[in-house]
Amino acid sequence: EHMHHGFYEPDARVSGSESDHRAAQIRMIEESLRFAAVPEDVEKRPKKVVDVGCGIGGSSRYLAKKYEAQCQGITLSPVQAQRANSLAAAQGLAEKAVFQVGDALNQPFPDGEFDLVWSMESGEHMPDKAKFVSELARVAAPGGTMIIVTWCHRDLESSEDSLSKWEKDHLDKICRAFYLPEWCSTSDYVKLLQSLNLQDIRTADWSENVAPFWPAVIRSALTWKGFTSILRTGLKTIRGALVMPLMIER
Ligand code: SAH
Repeated sequence: EHMHHGFYEPDARVSGSESDHRAAQIRMIEESLRFAAVPEDVEKRPKKVVDVGCGIGGSSRYLAKKYEAQCQGITLSPVQAQRANSLAAAQGLAEKAVFQVGDALNQPFPDGEFDLVWSMESGEHMPDKAKFVSELARVAAPGGTMIIVTWCHRDLESSEDSLSKWEKDHLDKICRAFYLPEWCSTSDYVKLLQSLNLQDIRTADWSENVAPFWPAVIRSALTWKGFTSILRTGLKTIRGALVMPLMIER
């Protein structure tokens, strides 16, 4: 259901079992909510959530259940939106978690609509980070919370004006395999958020917490079941799978 990294204690020894990956992916959702201090009590907890770049809607269904919130997800993929809606219906959440095709850079929602704006590992797909962030802020209600969990490159030193050649080549390989546009750093995001006058901006680097995820996924891909299912999904997935080990090079 989830198309994002798992969250682990740094250097955790992780088994290759699928239920472990799934538990770690749910931990990623919980850690994100905890980091952003999203209130749990009935009065203050989120009531309207937008899930920007929703995949097949795992986060929305989780948040709809956890907070009894009304969740709306957007994705560029009609296949994902359809699958997300049918999973919601199968889980009795057809009214609470609703999905549609929509562009994060031009969201199909009015201003100030949502008290929780959620973007889980979709920012790295956005070719225009400024537009992405301004759309997230536009649909957020006054006093609402925005959570952006995304792939970033390291912050640059004041003496640098770009990443090293080696780092750029390394990122290019990942971008080609996952069809990603250019990356930015956490501090680039902070500058964008500050330019929109948002308050209480907090960041964290969770590289160490997500690092155990790829080795665990690769171990399960190396089982016969994993291997045949990768073959079934076709060449594009195989290319992504071959690049995964790059992401865990230190
Ligand atoms: N948040 C989901 C999916 C992450 S995968 C999860 O955690 O499971 C990235 C998602 O971003 C995919 O659903 C992809 O369709 C979506 N996406 C990429 N660019 C987008 C855009 N411009 N507008 C809306 N969704 C986008």
